[in-house]
This record gives sequence, C-alpha cells and structure tokens, in this order.
Amino acid sequence: MTGFSQSDGIRSWGGVIKATHHVASPAWRDALPALVVSGRSEGHSLLAAGLRRSYGDSGLNPAGGLIDMTGLDRLIQLDTDSRLLRAEAGVSFDAILRTIVRRGFFLPVTPGTRFVTLGGAIANDVHGKNHHVRGTLGNWVRRIGLLRSDGTELELTPDDPSGLFQATIGGLGLTGVITWAEIELIPISSAIIAAENIPFGDLDEFFTLAEESERDFEYTVSWIDCLSDRDRLGRGIFTRGNHAPSGSILPDRGNTRLTMPVSLPGFAMNRYSISAFNALYFWNGKRKSGPARMGLYPFFYPLDAIGRWNRMYGRKGMYQYQSVIPPGAQKDATRDMLKAISASGQGSFLAVLKTFGTVPSPGLLSFPTAGTTLALDFPNHGDTTLELMARLDSIVKEAGGRLYPAKDGRMSARMFQDGYPAWQEFAKYVDAGFNSHFWDRVVRD
Ligand SMILES: Cc1cc2nc3c(=O)[nH]c(=O)nc-3n(C[C@H](O)[C@H](O)[C@H](O)COP(=O)(O)OP(=O)(O)OC[C@H]3O[C@@H](n4cnc5c(N)ncnc54)[C@H](O)[C@@H]3O)c2cc1C
Repeated sequence: MTGFSQSDGIRSWGGVIKATHHVASPAWRDALPALVVSGRSEGHSLLAAGLRRSYGDSGLNPAGGLIDMTGLDRLIQLDTDSRLLRAEAGVSFDAILRTIVRRGFFLPVTPGTRFVTLGGAIANDVHGKNHHVRGTLGNWVRRIGLLRSDGTELELTPDDPSGLFQATIGGLGLTGVITWAEIELIPISSAIIAAENIPFGDLDEFFTLAEESERDFEYTVSWIDCLSDRDRLGRGIFTRGNHAPSGSILPDRGNTRLTMPVSLPGFAMNRYSISAFNALYFWNGKRKSGPARMGLYPFFYPLDAIGRWNRMYGRKGMYQYQSVIPPGAQKDATRDMLKAISASGQGSFLAVLKTFGTVPSPGLLSFPTAGTTLALDFPNHGDTTLELMARLDSIVKEAGGRLYPAKDGRMSARMFQDGYPAWQEFAKYVDAGFNSHFWDRVVRD
C-alpha cells in the first residue's frame, strides 16, 4: 500500500487480538487525502487509529490499513470567551489538559484515562463519571472535519441535515477520518476535586447512594468487589465529587509513571489473589472513607499511574465487559450478573459500577443510555471466560441492555444488532473505503 508500511503484531489494548497491519503515520493534515485515496484506489479498506485504548477489535483492521493519527496533535485555537477548543484529532486528552487547566477550563467529559485522542474519544462517544449531568462527549462537540475516502473533506455541525454528524459521533471510525474537532469546555476555579469516598455493603445501598448523590455531585462512580458473595454481594466504595471552588489551578505534574516492565505470568491473576486484593482494597477504602481534596489526575485517572498496566494480565491478555441495563431492570440484572461472576470465580479488581443519566446521546451508535453500567476486566482463561461472558450476555439481553463496542472483542452479531437497533440506519453512512475487525464481525460476516 502506497504510504503504508507493514507492522507485525499490533495488539488490542486487552491483548487478546493480535494482527499484522499496514500503518501510515502522517505528520500533516494535508497528507491525509492522498493516503485515503490511495488506499481506496488500491482496493484496501482503511481505519483511523488514536492511542489504541479500545480494548477489543473496534480499532483494528487487519485486512487493510491503519492511519495512525497521533502525529496530528496540534491545538488549533482556544477561544476563552466562547470556551471553544479546536484541535487536530490526534491530540491526546493529556496534552489538552496541560494547556487548558491552568487557564481555568476542564474537559466536559473524560474517560478513565487521559491517554486517548480527541478523534478516538469522539468515534466512541466516550462517557465519564458525570454522565448524569453532562451526557457524553458528543453532546459537547460543536464541529468536526471529516475526510471521506474519495478525498472530500466535510465540515459537520450538530444540526447537519445529512445525518453524517450523528453517524460520526460514536461511529467507530467507519464514516471516515475525523481530521479535527471543536469542543466546548467547562469552566473550573481550581485543579482540585472535593471528593468523598463512602463504603457500601450491598447493591441496594449503592442504588440509594447513587440516587442521593446525583442531585448534588457532578461526578459519581463506584468500585465494586465482584468476587464477594452472599451477604457481601455487591459491596464496594462509592466515590463522588465536585470541582472545588478554590485551590491551586495548576494541574498535577502527572501521576508517577511506573511502567509494567513485562507481562505477568498468567497464574498471577487467579481467584485467590484477586479476592485477597479486593478484600484489602475494600477494608482500606473503609478505613480512608470520608471527604478528601484530590488532584485531578488521581481522581479521574488512577490507572494512568501505572504505564502499560494491561500487561499485568499476562500474555493471554484480558477481556473487558461493559454493559448498560435500563432503569426498570437494572437492580435485578446487576445482581444476577454479580452472582454469576462471583460463582464463576473469574473477575478482577478493576470493576466499576455507575448509573447513567437521561441526557440523550447524540450518536446513532452511542453506547450510553439511561440505566446502570457495569464494567469489568476478565483475565483471559479461554473457554471458561467466554462461557461466563455468554452467560452475562443472556442477562443483559433479557434485561433489554447492550454492550460497549469500545470494550468488546467477542460479542455476537445478534447481540450487537439487538442492542443497537439503529445499526441499519448507521450502515447507510459507513464509508465504503473504511472497515474494522469489529464491523466485519458484527455486521459484514
Ligand atoms: C484505563 C481505561 C479507562 C477507560 N475509561 C473509559 C470511560 O470511563 N468511558 C469511556 O467511554 N471509555 C473508556 N475507556 C475507553 C476509551 O476511552 C476509548 O476506547 C477511547 O475511544 C480510546 O481513544 P483512542 O484515542 O485510544 O482511540 P482508539 O482506541 O485508537 O480508536 C477508537 C475508535 O476510534 C476510531 N478513531 C480513532 N481516531 C479516529 C479519527 N481521527 N477519526 C475517526 N475515527 C477515529 C478508531 O477507528 C476506533 O474505532 C477507557 C479505556 C482505558 C484503557
């Protein structure tokens, strides 16, 4: 492929899927049209890639080319009056934060890592701890530049009558390359979060805390002990917080970045080590419960403190499973899922429970919808892990829920199509020059 070079062994973030790709890494936006046109004329499908923090195969395109967007990382304009930031799509949230926080602004929505690109975050229409207040990132996107495979560059806004804007938000990179975007920021008066950690003993307590907290707190999230059972089923630590009205406006220097030097042996992650860790974490959380003033990075991005933390799952990698269940069924279905996980003895300490609010997501394929979302990592133990996830699928499906494509590497076509009834409408906007392993798996096959 002209302008692309072969790269062996590109892995999904979860590490389960590995494939050879042809990769192009443009440094300038004006190099993009020639790259996409050459890919198309040579009959290869393309896909844009950001910092590749999607866990499964939605960011992989083994049969074709990957356009690594991380070289297109310039901030174009920050208008402090209108709070609009325009930047190239390959810029990371980390770089954006280094510029905006000291000027009194924050991202309206951020996922649990700052090592994502603006384009990748839009293409997954990411959500954060404040979904109940602000909705998804797509609700804050005011304009995007989209390059189609025939070389046309379009400028799209939320009122775009063609529907391409709504297809591109959460569109998994399948409508073309987002070359730049403009988002609205939120004002902050300090770089501090006034946070509070509250231990809860079971799921009922979690739902009560969530309901109470959503009124007064911008951010809510919970860690949950997914291996506890019986009367401890669903215990965890509920965290809530607001931007503090006063305090330093200087962003943290960055968490200490330790890096996992090598993959841990697979046996390191077993029922006993994880249960022991979870019990320790719970009791420690209980000991340290109460109000705390926290820096932005430890509050929003605790995992970023350990570079390549995904290596702790060993060479076989891990699956991440994130579901959302609508309000009417959320309590029973979440309980059933936790029971199934606890009984299986699989699961990890990275388990997160949160309620989504009712702000509608703008994308045709956006994942968030009102209800409860549970996200957990499962070390890959082969068939036993796949069987557990199939069991969880049936609970999610019966409850009318769905799974998050950004985290998925194995859901069935039926599961995807049932969960996203707009997929056929979306398919009309897919650019014939773009494809992904995920899309092949859930639609094209
Ligand atoms: C520790 C951790 C915590 C996370 N927490 C959350 C969370 O709280 N909420 C949440 O929603 N997600 C969360 N995620 C998932 C992550 O936010 C998303 O997968 C995000 O989209 C990754 O961005 P990226 O730049 O790495 O994109 P990639 O993974 O590289 O790509 C993601 C998708 O975007 C497409 N894409 C990338 N760049 C472009 C572009 N310029 N134009 C068009 N398409 C493009 C790709 O083709 C792919 O389909 C988390 C991930 C990790 C590792």
